[in-house]
Amino acid sequence: MTLDTPVTYLKGIGSARATLLAKLGITMAGDLLRHVPHRYEDATTVTPLANADVGADVTVLGRVIAKGVLPTRKGLRVFQAVIQDATGMLEIAWPGQPFLDRTINKDDWLLCTGPVRFFHGRRLQPREFVNLGPEEEGTGEGRVLAVYPGTEGLSVRLLRAMVQQHLDALLPLVQEPLPPEVLQAADVPSLRDAMRMVHRPTSVAEAVRGRSRLAFEELLCVQLLHRRANMMARDARGGRQFTNRRQLTSQLRTALPYTLTHAQVRAIREIVQDMESPRRMHRLLQGDVGAGKTVVAVFSALLAMENGAQVALMAPTELLAEQHARSIGTLLAPLGITPLLLTGRLPAGEKRLALTRLASPDAVLVIGTHALLQPDVRFGNLGLVIIDEQHRFGVEQRAVLSGKGETPDVLLMSATPIPRSLALTMYGDLDVSVLDERPPGRQPVTTVVRPESGRAKVFEFANTQLDAGRQVYVVYPLIETSEKIDLKAATVMYEALVTGPFAARQVALLHGRLPAEERDAIMRRFVQGEVQVLVATTVIEVGIDVGNATVMIIEHPERFGLSQLHQLRGRVGRGGEQSYCVLLGDVGTEAAERLSMFASTEDGFEIARADLQLRGMGDLFGAKQHGLPAFRIADPLRDEALNETARTVADRLLRDDPLLELPAHHALRHQLTVGYARALELFQIG
Ligand code: ADP
Ligand code: MG
Repeated sequence: MTLDTPVTYLKGIGSARATLLAKLGITMAGDLLRHVPHRYEDATTVTPLANADVGADVTVLGRVIAKGVLPTRKGLRVFQAVIQDATGMLEIAWPGQPFLDRTINKDDWLLCTGPVRFFHGRRLQPREFVNLGPEEEGTGEGRVLAVYPGTEGLSVRLLRAMVQQHLDALLPLVQEPLPPEVLQAADVPSLRDAMRMVHRPTSVAEAVRGRSRLAFEELLCVQLLHRRANMMARDARGGRQFTNRRQLTSQLRTALPYTLTHAQVRAIREIVQDMESPRRMHRLLQGDVGAGKTVVAVFSALLAMENGAQVALMAPTELLAEQHARSIGTLLAPLGITPLLLTGRLPAGEKRLALTRLASPDAVLVIGTHALLQPDVRFGNLGLVIIDEQHRFGVEQRAVLSGKGETPDVLLMSATPIPRSLALTMYGDLDVSVLDERPPGRQPVTTVVRPESGRAKVFEFANTQLDAGRQVYVVYPLIETSEKIDLKAATVMYEALVTGPFAARQVALLHGRLPAEERDAIMRRFVQGEVQVLVATTVIEVGIDVGNATVMIIEHPERFGLSQLHQLRGRVGRGGEQSYCVLLGDVGTEAAERLSMFASTEDGFEIARADLQLRGMGDLFGAKQHGLPAFRIADPLRDEALNETARTVADRLLRDDPLLELPAHHALRHQLTVGYARALELFQIG
């Protein structure tokens, strides 16, 4: 037998079971080993039945001494069992699950978790349970029980029995794919030990250690694929080689009204290195809202321009493009450089002028929207493409803009902060720079959660800010499926505000059903201060900078993800004034916890992390869009430290042996080519 032997060759597994196993991705003997428990029950920590008190949430273990299905008056059928341990008995009930009568038998040992309620006596209603089968008296005590992901027709118990039955025969067949120094660097056990630890642990801690080995291997494989793809892409990407002449960039440094943060200096250095190299830059600059990405982009633009090249900066909305043109214009005024603006709103005459400049070889900087993508926009010498809020553009759109130059360098910017190793896992062949430091002097935003009963006071407070000349946002969540209802709610609320607390104010309603021009017009009036209160159902443009806005009131805050709330909060606190973010409404306890966590920090990385943990990665980033590899065991976020180690190890392995050709690396390469189709193309020899 080998690990590649079909499972049907294993004792006790016929074709019927094999079909069910295949549903779990288990077709070969080795797959059975790779089917890792998703959690463990530590039977040493169960509550003795006598101590399972009403009101408590407990895990208990006991033998079924009686069972049956009882009808209730409402017609619901309840499966009930009484379990017993050395200390006493407890009733367990599963309302609406009479079918359990077929699978739970007298003398089976049940491990149940759930709340104990009072119902003619103590009664536990399991959230989860595991049927351990009719094992010997005392079984489970002092043992850790593996709980496997099952499927219809394959119970956890059956799976556990199968694995246990074959484990001793399969373990000796396990070969180690990782070189010893890698095991040592990552401080993880050998594969064989790890397999034993996850399937037959002596303690939960041991199971965790075994799992970390398997997770590490997965992360390492993915990092190897990504780093290798990155290396190949770089080598293939012949690009421009700029020279750091320190002319314009030095002038800017002198003219800058503030000192760059360490993070900005580091990012600029990384970008300069890319631009000086003969390879093509393909870098993602990510940093929280307000981290100061713009000035970093401007430094790279100047480096291109002092080499005689043109630069295009593309933003997702006209408003953002105009804002960039304004703020960058101010920044570059001392250097005598005026950026060109190219948007759909530009009058025909100005547009013609801009197009002529771009078609010339002059080293200009153009800032624009999708309008830059139009066929009539031609560049004389486009050397650098910068894309703000890069996730708002499709891959094709980015390619169209790059295609207007000859292999221009590319700098992408994103305001969704995620840990660096995770970014590298997600964005495949991009290099990543991170701004993880805020410019100094920014006032923290005071964030509070207020119940419905405090509504009047909240608006009263907003009015004192308005009296002081400040501006206010009020945001409503939008659920796409019920856009109409939400819009109605927002409209009603808007009416209530303009006839109530904000009767004396200039208030505008902004929602997604308005044509883009109208939305832009309203935003523009808010930017200019004509509108004092902006009631919005759409998420207000990321990156919109109205320094005078100091209050952000968010209705139904529980309906927003934490990262969304963070983006919203980033709209205030941009000027010198103390700013406030009020999360308004009555929310459940779970949401209240989430929101108070949010209120306690302004660290975008921390918030993104919490959000990822709560909602999963796909939700936040669109896993498909980024080709996020499917992890079976690892969780790049929860296993951030392991992932970081995996990245370091992958870099070192590939630096010394780019194709993993050395004999010591054969097993690893084999592992890659078996597990990942792309590996064949990336690690082929010759
Ligand atoms: P974002 O990363 O969100 O695009 P911006 O580039 O718009 O951030 O910068 C936010 C604000 O911080 C701007 O007003 C900018 O002038 C200011 N800023 C940027 N870098 C610094 C710095 N090192 N010190 C002080 N202020 C800075
Ligand atoms: Mg920005």
